[in-house]
Order: sequence, then structure tokens, then C-alpha cells
Amino acid sequence: MLNVPSQAFPAPGSQQRVASQGRSKVPLKQGRSLMDWIRLTKSGKDLTGLKGAIIEVTEEELKKHNKKDDCWICIRGLVYNVSPYMEYHPGGEDELMRAAGADGTDLFNEVHRWVNYESMLKECLVGRMAVKPTVSKADCHEGKRVLNGMLPKSQVKDALPREGPSFPSYDWFQTESSVTVVIYTKQKNICSDSVIVDLQDDSLRAEAVIKDHCYLVHIRLSHEVQGKFSVQVIENVGKIEIVLQKRENVSWKCLGLPLEKHDSFIPKKDAGLYYRKCQLISKEDVTHDTRRFCVMLPPSTHLQVPVGQHVYLKLSVTGAEIVKPYTPVSDSLLSDFKEPVLPPNKYIYFLIKIYPDGLFTPELDRLQIGDFVSVSNPEGNFKVSKLQEVEDLFLLAAGTGFTPMVNVLKYALTYTSSLRKVKLMFFNKTEDDIIWRSQLEKLALKDKRFDVEFVLSAPSSEWNGKQGHVSRPLLSAFLQRSLENSRVFVCICGPPPFTDEGIRLLHDLSFSDDEIHGFTA
Ligand code: FAD
Ligand code: NAD
Repeated sequence: MLNVPSQAFPAPGSQQRVASQGRSKVPLKQGRSLMDWIRLTKSGKDLTGLKGAIIEVTEEELKKHNKKDDCWICIRGLVYNVSPYMEYHPGGEDELMRAAGADGTDLFNEVHRWVNYESMLKECLVGRMAVKPTVSKADCHEGKRVLNGMLPKSQVKDALPREGPSFPSYDWFQTESSVTVVIYTKQKNICSDSVIVDLQDDSLRAEAVIKDHCYLVHIRLSHEVQGKFSVQVIENVGKIEIVLQKRENVSWKCLGLPLEKHDSFIPKKDAGLYYRKCQLISKEDVTHDTRRFCVMLPPSTHLQVPVGQHVYLKLSVTGAEIVKPYTPVSDSLLSDFKEPVLPPNKYIYFLIKIYPDGLFTPELDRLQIGDFVSVSNPEGNFKVSKLQEVEDLFLLAAGTGFTPMVNVLKYALTYTSSLRKVKLMFFNKTEDDIIWRSQLEKLALKDKRFDVEFVLSAPSSEWNGKQGHVSRPLLSAFLQRSLENSRVFVCICGPPPFTDEGIRLLHDLSFSDDEIHGFTA
């Protein structure tokens, strides 16, 4: 079943031809070619009849959908409504109907192991089986665990969190040269920056952040793979595909052995931090005490820090590990801001103030180009969705509290179509302390929606701009809406007394909690 026309796809010699030899094909009606099918899937038509909802399907429910005009089939735990596809199926309707209302995984494995049915049928996805009906013979067992990604029934029940998102799962398949690990997050609109993958010494560690939970696939692979791999996030279906390249073209009997916390799904706050060593690529002065550091991720890491989140940097100082949080920024305010699309950037930039009597920053500053610093997975509770409908965005930053504002500002200017105004009030001690002052001024000239005001707490006598600490008069003059009922959002970050006082004043000025995000530890 689910064969594809041999004329155009798969290409001659492609792996996808391996299993389709010797199978008869039925003549397709005009307008029912693969290209016609692709056009239909891209038309935006509701092909499941569920208006985009993804549901959990029980065996009883699956069985009910066994007619040509209402035909659901389960393949590797996912259920598809294949009725719209019937006339496009080169193997014919009768072949598809053999699996109507049932689990077609074994049938599929016999005939179509290599076909990328997931992308062909992604718009037909109805949902996921509540429990996978069958486990195929070829699957590999390790103790009681089934390393095809599905847990035995009893474990599924026990492992499900009482509240929060549904328990994700994973599966894998292979071609002659590649192994693809698929994570089914069971969440629509999963972002490309929600998955972090590290490949080290033939151990695969893939972490998917799903709402405030974290799903981990952690496996010692059964065979060697190449260092480079690709990650694809199919956002609307909530599926993550990690494509590893085999070192040798041999068939794998199983994916590998489970490692610590493999196949766990726990609240993010309970998941420990995972670090990888990154190389220092450059270090440049930005002010008299603040530098821009650039580190390079290892080639075997896939990581993108979401807007408004931070990472932890770790250094070993005379045997002790020191860890501090830092907020990545883009390389400059004036460069184009790229949506977190894949493949992710290989470089992470930081603006870091060096405190001569500090614990961590002097050590960081002593690193030479080519030295290593450990970088954790991202953390933080800022959500870009907060910026979606905003018309007036106000940013209040003090000192290096400017760092989270960089990507928030760039994201809003690039992607928030409703945005009319972004204003930054930037508090510093002196003019010399202002980070990226000329870039901010250039950006204000370049983009009419953006304005910046500097406020100094210890200015020189030549300063004729605003002075003082955060105060009600300063804020009430600054926080003027562009229209009376504008949708507003305020971000604030700086030394804790600054942030606390700012939030108190914002409440005084009648901003609601929903309209404020305070960046804190
Ligand atoms: P510390 O040892 O923490 O000392 C800092 C200063 O405080 C020194 O002058 C020290 O003398 C003084 N000090 C220390 N202890 C005391 C005390 N008990 N009483 C009085 N003074 C004291 N910083 C950045 O530069 N860039 C960033 O992008 C960034 N992002 C951050 C993100 C988050 C979420 C958070 C919470 C902080 C962030 N920081 C950032 C701050 C950063 O984490 C460190 O706190 C900072 O770099 C100082 O670290 P340190 O160990 O060098 O200094
Ligand atoms: P700084 O000492 O240079 O002070 C900058 C300005 O903050 C001052 O000019 C003043 O206007 C204001 N300020 C300082 N102390 C204040 C107080 N007690 N009350 C009111 N206003 C005050 O700042 P810095 O050395 O650059 O420190 C930046 C701070 O921002 C650090 O505490 C750092 O941890 C924090 N930070 C937090 C995040 C985050 O995401 N949570 C990110 C970056 C930086």
C-alpha cells in the first residue's frame, strides 16, 4: 500500500524503490498523479475532516472507519484518513482497503519500508493511537523496554503525567545509508527551536521541549554514525525527525541501548541542565568593561536559543565548576534577524560585563581564542507569543539587562505585523557604559517604529539627557500609547532592585500582569 508512481518518484536508484519491486500498479484517473496529490495537500483543504485537530484514537474508533469514503489506517502508531488519497494511490484502492480501520504497519513494512509516507500523508493525519496495537517482530528488546519507541501498555499508563501535555513517543526507520529517529510530540505548532540534539561518542541525546515539559530520547546507538546529522521539525503535525548518516551501509537490527532518563517526560524544571563544550571564536570590546563573546557549537549539536531565553556557561576554575546565566544576543542590532529556522546558527553571541572582583567573568575573560566553555540547554519563561498582537512595545533595560531586549526587539520589528511603536528606555551609570549606543541610534534612524532614550544615574556635567533612577515621572512620560486603546507589552530587565521597582511602578501606572514581562533569574 501507499506506493508511489515509478515514473517520477522515487527517482531511479533511490532507496524508496527497494521494497516496491514486482508490485502491480493500477492505472490512475487523469488529475490523480503524485503532483496532483501534492497540489491538493498544499491547497489548505481539510483532508482529515477534523479541521486541524489532532486526536487520540482508540482501537474501537479506528475500526469504525473502514469504508472507502471513511477510511482510517494506522501506521507505526499514527492514524491517517486515507479516503482523500484513495484515487491517487498507485497500488489501487483495494490495496489500501486491506488495512481499512486497522493497523497497517506490518503490511506497510512488507511493501513500503522505504517510502516517506509521513510527508505524503501529513495533511491526512488524524492523530495517534492511544496505545500502539501491535509491535512488529523485527523490533529490538532490551530488558522490558521496547526500543522502537513504544512503551508496553502498563508503562504508558504509569508514565503519563496527570496534568499537562500528552506523553510523546518515538520511533525509527532506516534506509541503506541513514537512520531516522522520529519523535511524535503530539502537539501541534511545535517550534523548530524546541528540539536540542547532541551526538557524542555514538550516543544520541535528543530533548524536545513541549510546553513546560521535556521529552528525552537518549540512546547508545548500536552502530557508528557520522558526526553530521539533520533535524526537521514538521511544525503543524508536531513531529521531529533526526536523520543520522550511517558510517557503514549495513542494516541495523535495533536502534541501540537506552541510556539515563531515556524515553522520560518530565516537567522542564525537574530536568537537569545538559552541557556541551563550545569553542571561543572571538572576543571584542563593546564598552570599557563589556565584551562581545562568540562561541561555536560543536558540529554534532543542534541547538537554537529561543528569543528571550538564557543559557548557563560553565567553567572549571581550579577544580571547581562555576556556572552563571547569560542571554545570547544576535551578532549586531543592524543585521537581519532570522527566524529560528533550521539549520540553526552554529555561533552563539553574548554581551558580557567583566567584573574585576567577580567570580566567573574574570575567568571567562582569561579564555584564549580556541579555548572551550560549556554551554547549557536554554531556559527561561519568555514566550514570543506575547509579542504576536502587540501594537506598542516598551522595553526598560538597565546595564547588561539590555541583553534579552536585543532579540525581543529584533523579533518584534521583523515578525510582529501589528507593531506600530517600539521604545527602549536604557538606564546606565555613565555614557561610557551604554552598550551598542551607536547601533541603537542607527536603528532608530533606519526604522521609524523604533525610538531609544538613555537615562544616566551618574552622568558627567556635559550630559544633557535624562538623569536618575527608574521613577514614576520618568515612566509615565515614556509609556505613552500610540493610540488610546493600543495593545501594549512591557519588558523589563536589570539589577534586581531596578526590576522590582520598575514592576511596582508599572502596576501603579495600571499595567496588568499580562502586559508585563520581568526578566529575572
Ligand atoms: P559576581 O561574583 O557575581 O560579582 C558581581 C559583582 O557583584 C562584583 O562587583 C562583586 O564584587 C559584587 N558582589 C558579589 N557579591 C556581592 C555581595 N554579596 N554584596 C555586594 N556585592 C557583591 N550578565 C551579562 O553580562 N550578560 C548577560 O547576558 C547576562 N545575562 C543574564 C541572564 C540572567 C537570567 C541572569 C540572572 C543574569 C545574567 N547576567 C548577565 C549576569 C551574570 O549571570 C552574572 O551575574 C554576572 O556576569 C556576574 O558574574 P561574576 O561571577 O563575574 O560576578
Ligand atoms: P549597573 O550597576 O551598571 O547599573 C545599571 C543601571 O541600573 C544604573 O544606572 C541604574 O539606573 C540601575 N540600577 C542599579 N542599581 C539600582 C538600584 N539599586 N535601584 C534602582 N536602579 C538601579 O548594572 P550592571 O552591572 O550592568 O548589572 C546588570 C544586572 O542585570 C545584573 O544584576 C544582571 O544579573 C542583570 N541581568 C539579568 C538578566 C536576566 O535575564 N534576568 C539578563 C542580563 C542582566
